[in-house]
Amino acid sequence: MGREHAVDSVTRDGAALPEYPRLEGENGAVVRHAPHLPLLGREVLAHLETGLAALPEMLGISAPALEALVVAGDDWDAAPRDNSRPYPRGLPYFTRATEPPALVIPERLSGAIQPRTGATLPLVVHHELAHAFLAGVVAVRIPSWLRELPPQAASAAVARREALPLDEHLTRMESPGFTIRGFHTPAAAGEQMAFQNLLLRLGAAALAGFGEAFLPRLVAALRRETELDESRAEDLLAEALGPGGREWLDSQEEF
Ligand SMILES: [Zn+2]
Repeated sequence: MGREHAVDSVTRDGAALPEYPRLEGENGAVVRHAPHLPLLGREVLAHLETGLAALPEMLGISAPALEALVVAGDDWDAAPRDNSRPYPRGLPYFTRATEPPALVIPERLSGAIQPRTGATLPLVVHHELAHAFLAGVVAVRIPSWLRELPPQAASAAVARREALPLDEHLTRMESPGFTIRGFHTPAAAGEQMAFQNLLLRLGAAALAGFGEAFLPRLVAALRRETELDESRAEDLLAEALGPGGREWLDSQEEF
């Protein structure tokens, strides 16, 4: 990113949501929130603190500079984003259009985000936070299922550590009529969610079977790759899981 672009981004960001109060927490966590959303701002700040404490070790990546923006429904179209197309309402995302980059969390999560449990919001925040960590270090183009697996597994790992109701969350998911490797875009919002949920389930199962250490191994492997096709992606995951990883992967019905 060149200087001109960075300056432009700062200006654009400051101009877009200027009246948003700023909260600072532990571990360098910063949240700016719509003025009428102080409670949601505090809640997101707490999840951000937890994630910033856990993810460096969990992914093997030091924490990048970032802040979270908790955006009012009325401000959604003014929120920073990577291009000028309007983003779907209620879907959180990570953008590098600002300095520092931002996790954009909507006032109301889209109804497409299911299931809704006490784990939903923290899972969403930690998922986007993991993307922010990975965006700084992984440059290779990755098949979408393997790009989404580390954020899903990391958010599941944080949920386990925090004793969030992850089991309830996993059992309330409906099984779609496709597998992770059989998913293709473009897809409807419901199918995208089902795909993400399959990956959350696979990530949680991998954590249970192989422990958290497979995640930094997988991330380290992704950082080394310069080209990654489907079969290489499967090999990397199997190797990162460790002994028995390939057999385990082949036995997972959602995979
Ligand atoms: Zn994602």
